Amino acid sequence: MATKTRKYGLFINGKEVSAKGGKTYIRENPATEEPFAEIAEAQKADVDKAVKAAAKAFKTWSKIPVSERVKYVHKIAEILEKNREKIALTNTLETGKPIRESRLVELGGAIKTLEYYAGISNQLNGESISVSEAQLTVTLREPIGIVGQIIPWNFPLLLSFWKIAPALVAGCTIVLKPAEHTPCGILEVAKLCTKAGLPDGVLNIIPGDGEVAGQALVEHPGVAKVAFTGSTEVGKIVMKTAADNIKRVSLELGGKAPCIVFDDAEIENTIEATLRGGFFNQGENCTAVTRLLLHEKIYDKFLSAFIKRVKKIRMGDPTKDDTEIGSVISREHFESVKSYFQKGKNEGGRVLAGGKRPRKFTKGYFFEPTVIADVDPKATIACEEIFGPIVAVIPFKTEEEAVSIANDTVYGLAGGIWTKDIKRALRMAKNIKAGYLWVNTYGGIIPETPYGGLKQSGIGKELGKDGLDMYLESKTVNIFIGDKIPAFYKG
Ligand code: NAD
Repeated sequence: MATKTRKYGLFINGKEVSAKGGKTYIRENPATEEPFAEIAEAQKADVDKAVKAAAKAFKTWSKIPVSERVKYVHKIAEILEKNREKIALTNTLETGKPIRESRLVELGGAIKTLEYYAGISNQLNGESISVSEAQLTVTLREPIGIVGQIIPWNFPLLLSFWKIAPALVAGCTIVLKPAEHTPCGILEVAKLCTKAGLPDGVLNIIPGDGEVAGQALVEHPGVAKVAFTGSTEVGKIVMKTAADNIKRVSLELGGKAPCIVFDDAEIENTIEATLRGGFFNQGENCTAVTRLLLHEKIYDKFLSAFIKRVKKIRMGDPTKDDTEIGSVISREHFESVKSYFQKGKNEGGRVLAGGKRPRKFTKGYFFEPTVIADVDPKATIACEEIFGPIVAVIPFKTEEEAVSIANDTVYGLAGGIWTKDIKRALRMAKNIKAGYLWVNTYGGIIPETPYGGLKQSGIGKELGKDGLDMYLESKTVNIFIGDKIPAFYKG
């Protein structure tokens, strides 16, 4: 698994450049703990340079016909397809996730998102409104301007393209700040895009520290909108900073998804989807099943079948095709997951699987798929976002109790409902306060469907037509088409 250190610059105005003062930082491969890349670290002055490049490019990019912009969007999808293996490997080396997930979810999902937005480019039109015989009103939908996009480390490519694709179609130009841990894949993609003809300055990438580069991007007066995905804690800072010049913001934040299984649920399907919901991407997933609510009548039966499957999940070298779960993102995060596990135990939970780094790994931040049962709904692991491979299991008796537990959190991102009773499924869907719900399935967010959190899980939607609207502003133009303006003043 040994890896060679690669070097990455900032990507500004179509070129790879050094950061001010030549500042760099080292990123390790979380599965080997070996240095993997040396990356330029953007400073405030670099952010300014990137915004200026995006501003220059905006003058042309926003004015070319949308049909031309769409050609570039298709081209980027082709580039990702052609380089799928190479970029998937970079993605796996920087995140620790299994290569099959990098190929399928990060690259596959990014390609689908680009193609989807290229396909709905006819949605940029405004409308004409009949007001009276003498008056015609039209609305114009225009690109919002230069957008700052801030990305977390859990899906560095997929989440970048959830933002890049609609912004490009809308006519915006971009300054994107990847997470500190995961800038390499998107930097490689940006370079390939320029080689394939994307005009300079349309897509700028500025890796760096959140409190320096991220903060400078949100503060920058030249940035019209910030699209942020990350923790609720940092989302609040972004919102406060953006308030200074009423910058547009959209926020995709943390979650604590409940997955509610009634006693009439189709058990095999439920187990299959819950395994994926809980442990896909090492549980480093904002919609992960972190609270598994099981009806008391099926509690023991479900758990014994579920645990058998959990113990069979193959943990290993993330670059190997048959690996099903890799390492978490960093030492710090590994320690955080471990401490949540300890709290789960200390607060009365019963450990049924996992809880440590398996002995066969002497290096790497590998944390076993973990299940803790009999968790009190008020326990720390039932309330706080763990963002790792730990599923907390909570028993319930009635529908009302399940709704009350599900909603008793500051988050409202996603959730799952398992029952054969369609009326109950719909009642639950109406009563659970979450922005994205699955019924009799779990996981998988497709580009066609709007996605975003309620409560402290965010503001605004990404994906679907709503995702395009986030990069457009509407202007109303009222046109007098009569002969004479009626007199208002007598003199
Ligand atoms: P984070 O909030 O620590 O960082 C996210 C990004 O914000 C990073 O690029 C970081 O450098 C930047 N940042 C940090 N401080 C900043 C500041 N002051 N100003 C501007 N930018 C700043 O989150 P993370 O640890 O990278 O990711 C995990 C979190 O992301 C979890 O809470 C998870 O639920 C959330 N997430 C949400 C979604 C969603 O769609 N709702 C998707 C993925 C991840």
